[in-house]
Amino acid sequence: MKKALSVLLLILLVSAVIVHPTTADAAATDTVSVSFDPAYVKYKGTTPYVVYTGSSLTPPVIVSYNGRLLNASEYTLSYRNNTYPGNALVDVTVKETGKKKTLWFKIYLPPTASTSVENTDNGIQIKWSSVKGARGYVIYRRAWSSATNGWTDFLRWNNTTSTSWTDTKVYAGTRYQYGIKAYYDDPMDNYNLGLVGPLKTTVRITTRELISVTPGSKKLTAKWSASSHFTGYQLQTATDSAFTKNVNTVTISDPKTDQKTITGLNDNTIYYVRVRSYHVFEGTKYYGKWSNVKTNEKTKVYILNTSTHKFHNPSCKDVKRIADKNKATYEGTRSALIDSGYSPCGHCKP
Ligand SMILES: [Zn+2]
Repeated sequence: MKKALSVLLLILLVSAVIVHPTTADAAATDTVSVSFDPAYVKYKGTTPYVVYTGSSLTPPVIVSYNGRLLNASEYTLSYRNNTYPGNALVDVTVKETGKKKTLWFKIYLPPTASTSVENTDNGIQIKWSSVKGARGYVIYRRAWSSATNGWTDFLRWNNTTSTSWTDTKVYAGTRYQYGIKAYYDDPMDNYNLGLVGPLKTTVRITTRELISVTPGSKKLTAKWSASSHFTGYQLQTATDSAFTKNVNTVTISDPKTDQKTITGLNDNTIYYVRVRSYHVFEGTKYYGKWSNVKTNEKTKVYILNTSTHKFHNPSCKDVKRIADKNKATYEGTRSALIDSGYSPCGHCKP
């Protein structure tokens, strides 16, 4: 037994001495090694990739022959399928010997960026920036359920190049997270970097209705539809309808409250008023969409010329001259009339 083992060892030793130099010589005369220049190619795991631009992509290759780095005049590169997202190839041929090697790489769609989420009347709207080359987007959602004390996932294919989508299957007070992934060929293709960046989070908060604004001397009282689903309200006033001038925001931290009087206002100034719910979820404050806007103006009766789109005080002399078919009576605020395209008469200055 021991002798047989020695013989075997001897054979192995002899074969190593004889065979090894021969194979080494053969390899040394014909070794081409190729790799991508890391300055131009990134890796996702072990997959080399470049990002789609709409033009043909030719990532440079580092070529060595028998351990010697070749300069570009010593080899040729031939690229295939190298414009559109998918699998691309490059054939490397060493001119001296005609020896060829092939490298493959992926062309990925650019990552989706600038995702935002916000509450709207119908649900939660997700917006994202357009991705060059995308034929559609996959919307990824996870919802926190207190019933299961965990996240549930949801995927939707948006087979258009639209860059927004409203999730209407959402429940008040539930927290949602969203991510967007562009696709090229079909929603399940992997010609993209997957979900990149943090998911965007919000809590579904329904829109309040501002029911009334009652004017008073240097004050106004706003009433709204309350909702006990959320932590509280923000009531905002401003002197312009875009809410950029003299903006004042009041926080009401009791969800059962449905009205508030704002004092310290100027008389003869129009104040625009709106309200929204907010909700605190694990220490973060989330906001609903702002309500409809009302003002502290008193409602009055005006006479309209529906042809010229002028409005008058009922006592104005011009009213008599309006043809019956163009005459209408309106009761409401002056600013609402102006917003709907009417302008005040120059004589009665209503
Ligand atoms: Zn008039």
